[in-house]
Amino acid sequence: MKNVIRLISLLLILMLLPVCALGETVVTSFYPIWLLARNLAEGIPGLEVRNLAAPDTGCLHDYQLQSQDMKVLEEADLFLVNGAGMESYLDLVFSAFPDLPVARASDGVPLLYGMDALQIGESEEEEEGEANAHIWLSASNAVLMARNLADAMIRQFPSLEPGIRENLASLTDRLNLLDQELKDGLSDLPRRGIITFHEAFPYFASAYGLEVLAVVNREPGETLTPAQLARLITVIRDLGNPPLFTEPQYEDLSARILASETGAKIYTLDPVVTGPEENVPLDYYESVMRKNMETLRDALSE
Ligand SMILES: [Zn+2]
Repeated sequence: MKNVIRLISLLLILMLLPVCALGETVVTSFYPIWLLARNLAEGIPGLEVRNLAAPDTGCLHDYQLQSQDMKVLEEADLFLVNGAGMESYLDLVFSAFPDLPVARASDGVPLLYGMDALQIGESEEEEEGEANAHIWLSASNAVLMARNLADAMIRQFPSLEPGIRENLASLTDRLNLLDQELKDGLSDLPRRGIITFHEAFPYFASAYGLEVLAVVNREPGETLTPAQLARLITVIRDLGNPPLFTEPQYEDLSARILASETGAKIYTLDPVVTGPEENVPLDYYESVMRKNMETLRDALSE
């Protein structure tokens, strides 16, 4: 009987071995990086992509690692992050998991620093020289980001290189197509100026010929004081009532006050920092960016 049990155990171990050897876990820091990484891992057996922040988290400004995040990172073979300052908790990851390879999508992406646009609700302790981290909102940046993530995955899992390269090639084609569509679609509009409620769109504006005239809140969710609101009403009137762009992630009551006081219209731009968790189409990023293009064409054609 003992021998039979031993034999069964041995068989079980042998059956499980190849699965263990194949199973690789890539962890991404937040939604935009998860969207890119799952395109790169699509159809590759044994390569799992998990997202650290919940899909409704949004940007990681001031995000603190939770204890369940540490558990997920413990099982990671590779951690893919945005970089450019989005993940302010990285030092903690380096010291808690010194052996975990971490790759930044932002490597080699030309960064924008500071803000030309007027900021109304900006907090006093804004750090000078901080890069704007919302790099994924230009499709040509997304091409560079995808390549950085793919390179890191290939370095870490060399046996999976052919599949990752194939996925990178088709993702790159799609993103280049999107980039051209956005350039063409936004090039001939009579107006170019927009006011946004979160400092997410400078890369988009710079890539596609728009101008961010003012940012109401540098970080999402800040509440405006009555004095700031009054100043903003004057600014919007002086600018000729350009359209206001709120974001689906951050419902902003001040937008409605501003719109009713100035007559400026409110539209929604989605910075693709949140989205569905299940049955997410591989081209989710592209479809949201195309919808943003339609919204902008509508808002800026009058
Ligand atoms: Zn943000």
